[in-house]
Amino acid sequence: MNAHCPFCGATVMPRSRFCPTCGQALPQAALPFSAAPLLDVSDPPVEGVLTNGKRFHVSSDALDLRELLHVVESSVQWWQRGLTSSNAVTREQAARAIDELSQIMHSLSQQLAQGRTTIRVTRRLPALRAFDVACPSCGCGNRAGARFCQRCGALLQAAPRYGVGSVQSRLLSFQIVARTDTGRVRQQNQDAVYAGEIDLPGQKKAYLCLVADGMGGAAAGEYASRLAADVSRAYLERESASHPPPTDDAWQTLLRDAVRAANRRIYDAAHADSARRGMGTTLTIALLVGDRLHIASVGDSRAYLLNLHGVTDDGAPSAQLTSDHSLVARLVDIGQLTPEQARTHPQRNILYRSIGTDPSVDVDTRSEALEPGDIVLLCSDGLVNHVSDEEIAQVALGESDLERAATRLIGLANERGGRDNISVVMVRVASDTG
Ligand code: CA
Repeated sequence: MNAHCPFCGATVMPRSRFCPTCGQALPQAALPFSAAPLLDVSDPPVEGVLTNGKRFHVSSDALDLRELLHVVESSVQWWQRGLTSSNAVTREQAARAIDELSQIMHSLSQQLAQGRTTIRVTRRLPALRAFDVACPSCGCGNRAGARFCQRCGALLQAAPRYGVGSVQSRLLSFQIVARTDTGRVRQQNQDAVYAGEIDLPGQKKAYLCLVADGMGGAAAGEYASRLAADVSRAYLERESASHPPPTDDAWQTLLRDAVRAANRRIYDAAHADSARRGMGTTLTIALLVGDRLHIASVGDSRAYLLNLHGVTDDGAPSAQLTSDHSLVARLVDIGQLTPEQARTHPQRNILYRSIGTDPSVDVDTRSEALEPGDIVLLCSDGLVNHVSDEEIAQVALGESDLERAATRLIGLANERGGRDNISVVMVRVASDTG
């Protein structure tokens, strides 16, 4: 991934415009943010090969559920021959593989029953903010030891940026906008959004944002997403008012508990009423506490962190914070996919998890540092189906008014068809000058 400076030979990051060691402008410097794609969205299709020789295509970002189900079914058949093998190890392997594949089949059939036809493919999450040194003139992050800013070439002071060696937590203020829209095609809005404050002891506050994208027939999806929002919000408000977690890990545990409480309630409600059977929802939560961001996610509603000065390891201004169950990775793990071309795309995940469809659920959580200028953006797939990551970042970072940014993003999705409900929750982080 890293390149070398042609003048002094030092290692430079892919997006660097200036060498951090000698300060020379680099000949293949990254384009300005507005002109450079943030992520390569034109990846060629990925092809996997099954153990039984069947091939399996993943288009640029979506995969047909029926095709995938068929692939998994034929893999089960292939492994079933192993059950009668004279070799005990083979028999055990086959049994384990069939067990794993059956779980995947169960999940896929449930989603098909719920009317879902495709699942999306996403990348592994990037490492964020490996930079310690802020450029005094442009604010861009630079690696420890850099003498010149990789973005503007200015001479750097060796000042730590992200609290290294310092216990001072920066005072930040937050501006929050939450919007949801039915779109142009659906009759109902099955998305739910929420944004609001949570009171912590000692007059402190946390800020809670969430997006839930319901699925299931008629009113069931709407009910599921609303219930997920309400149950998790009430749980977080109650617990953080009485026992605010002291650490990132403890906040993540609290978030997982809140999401699991929502999962249980929806699962029970789905089984108590035949009209609601099979309903489910995604749930993505962002909790901002002091200068920390805590994220929990199940399903394919996304959270992004955006900042003009860069958020990722290589200085990209946009990073997706959420991902999900990796179906392809699991298939590779259990030997069902030969990772031929998947090997050249090792960072791809397929999403297939949801809240309320099983009695228990795995919840992804992570914590990140917040910086002034950050925008945290949550959205449902109704946005990302029509608007690329690059466009989301450009609108969110380029628009000075947060409300207008949210309106523009929803407008873009609607102009391009608005096939699904569209939800956007955005938080802009600033230094608290008050
Ligand atoms: Ca949706």
